[in-house]
Amino acid sequence: MLSYRCPSLPGMTADPVIIGQAPTQLPATVRASLSPSRAADFKTCPLLYRFRSIDRLPERPTVEQVRGTLVHAVLERLFDLPPAERTPTSAGDLVAPQWDRLVTEQPELAGLFEAGGPVDVAEFLRSAAALLEGYFAVEDPRRLEPAERESLISAVVDDELLIRGYLDRLDVAPDGALRVVDYKTGGAPREAFESRALFQLKFYALVLWRTRGVVPRVLRLLYLRDAEVCDYTPDAEELVRFERTVVALWRAIEQATAARDFRPRPSRLCDWCSHQAHCPSYGGTPPPFPEQVPAPDPSRDARSRPARPGTDE
Ligand code: SF4
Repeated sequence: MLSYRCPSLPGMTADPVIIGQAPTQLPATVRASLSPSRAADFKTCPLLYRFRSIDRLPERPTVEQVRGTLVHAVLERLFDLPPAERTPTSAGDLVAPQWDRLVTEQPELAGLFEAGGPVDVAEFLRSAAALLEGYFAVEDPRRLEPAERESLISAVVDDELLIRGYLDRLDVAPDGALRVVDYKTGGAPREAFESRALFQLKFYALVLWRTRGVVPRVLRLLYLRDAEVCDYTPDAEELVRFERTVVALWRAIEQATAARDFRPRPSRLCDWCSHQAHCPSYGGTPPPFPEQVPAPDPSRDARSRPARPGTDE
């Protein structure tokens, strides 16, 4: 059974216990990999999965996605500071330097703010700082020492499938209890996206359980815009069922790929889909199916940020 609590703030501000992740030697039987984002794409809409993972159609990032990337970068860097210096002022001071770094690494991001464009960069940076205020409303980083930040975790399930994704943060209590923390930078409404966020968290819980033998005690979503915390408590029974779901999803992806049959599944999420022009549900035509299906790209798959809350890692 999976318990769910929202909003709540159970104290788990543990003293630091750092655990490392052992390097994994992949069994020779592994022949595919899956990230929570791509699995959730297929679950949401098989055609969306095809557009993103097989056709690899370009998607121009939205302002919300870029703001999310910036806020995640600031929160990651914040924990580089000594605990006493992890204040709202310090976080605010990190916004501009982290933005400069992101634009240097991904110059295309600057295109969102070109002269005459819809977004003013100063206003954008202020809105990122405002989201960080939401973070400080729900957590005190001076009392936390994360074990891991932005770390890639992976596990092999069913002997053949590598599942992996990037955790925003992992906290480890002195008794070894794990808390997975995921920052969400979007705002309400989020009912339509809650199941996708939960799917992603269970994915991480499964990986941690399979690699470390510990079921995470808490899976936590921090909604920064609403200054709200949602906690989930998984158990082993739930994760066994979830593992079967992931493997079944992967088999369905394989069958769809072999048959070149990815059908659209319209839903409220279509409002945030970049590919309506290619979607038959919107009068579009998909591009010809590629002769060569590209191999998964973990960094591409796992680093994308959501356009709306709970839609990605
Ligand atoms: S517009 Fe909707 S139905 Fe079409 S590909 Fe996108 S998510 Fe799927």
